[in-house]
Amino acid sequence: MTFQDYPMGNTSARRNLLAHIADSRSLVVFTGAGISTESGIPDYRGPGGIWKKFRPVTFQEFIASESGRRAYWERKFATDDLLRQARPNKGHLALAELVRSGRASCVITQNIDGLHQLSGIPEAQVIELHGNTTYAHCLSCQTRFTLDTLKIDFLNTGKSPLCDCGGFIKTATISFGQPMPDDAMRLAQEAALNCDLFLVVGSSLTVYPASGFPITAKQNGARLVIINRESTELDRLADFALHGEAGPILADLVANIDSPRDNRAS
Ligand code: NAD
Repeated sequence: MTFQDYPMGNTSARRNLLAHIADSRSLVVFTGAGISTESGIPDYRGPGGIWKKFRPVTFQEFIASESGRRAYWERKFATDDLLRQARPNKGHLALAELVRSGRASCVITQNIDGLHQLSGIPEAQVIELHGNTTYAHCLSCQTRFTLDTLKIDFLNTGKSPLCDCGGFIKTATISFGQPMPDDAMRLAQEAALNCDLFLVVGSSLTVYPASGFPITAKQNGARLVIINRESTELDRLADFALHGEAGPILADLVANIDSPRDNRAS
C-alpha cells in the first residue's frame, strides 16, 4: 500500500499511480459526500455536517404518521436551496472527463445531489445507490414530481404531499430503514466485479452496504485507489490512499494521464 499526502510532487509513487490509471482497461469510480463539499454541500460527518443539525427521519417514521412525513418535508425544504444552488466542481468535472474519454465505465455514487449528471455524465453511467433528492416520486405508483409545486403546496397547507392515487410522495432517495434499490445494487456489484481499478473519492466508507463494493472489487483482483481528506476504514486494503482535497487531486491526475510508459517510474 502506498499512503501519501497530496500534493506528492513528481515522485515515483505519483508516476506509478498515473500509470495504473492509464493502464486500466475497466476503471470504476465510487463517490461519497466528500466529492461535493467543494460545491458547498456539507458531508455527513465533517464540520457543518447536515445530520449534526437535522436528525434524519427514518423510512418507518415517514410511513407511520403524518407528523413523521411533515418533519421529513420540513427538513428537506430547509436544506433545499443549498442543493439547488450547487454546481459541479473540478472534481466532478475531472471524473466526467474520465467517463467521456472512455477510461471510466461508470460512477457508482452514494450521493443524492445529481451533480455527476450535471457535470455531463450520461444518466445511464451514474449508478445511484441512495437515490436522488432533486425530484420526488409516489411510493405507490412511482409517478415523478418536481419539487417546486410540492414546496409551494407544502408551505401553503402544512400537509405532506399525496399522489392522486392516494400514495405518499417522497423524494426519490433511500432513507434509513428503506430497502436498497435492486437495480442499482446489481449494476454496482457487476461493475465492482468486472473492473481492474476501483477509484474511491470522498467517502468515509462507513455506510454499509455501499462500502462493500470496494472490498468486492479488491477481493476480485482490482487495484483499489482511495482519495479522501482523512483516512478511511479501508485504507489498509488500498493500493494507493491519497489524503487531500478531491477537486485538485482529480484535476491533477486526469490532466496528467499520458501514455502509460511516460508515467511509469523507472
Ligand atoms: P461521509 O460524510 O461519511 O464521508 C465523507 C468523507 O469525505 C469524509 O471522510 C471526509 O473527510 C471526506 N471529504 C470531505 N470533503 C472532502 C474533499 N473536499 N476532498 C476529499 N475528501 C473529502 O459521506 P459518505 O461516505 O458519502 O456516506 C454517508 C452518506 O452521506 C451517504 O449515504 C450519502 O447518501 C450521504 N450524503 C450525501 C450528500 C450529497 O449527496 N452530496 C451529502 C451528505 C450526505
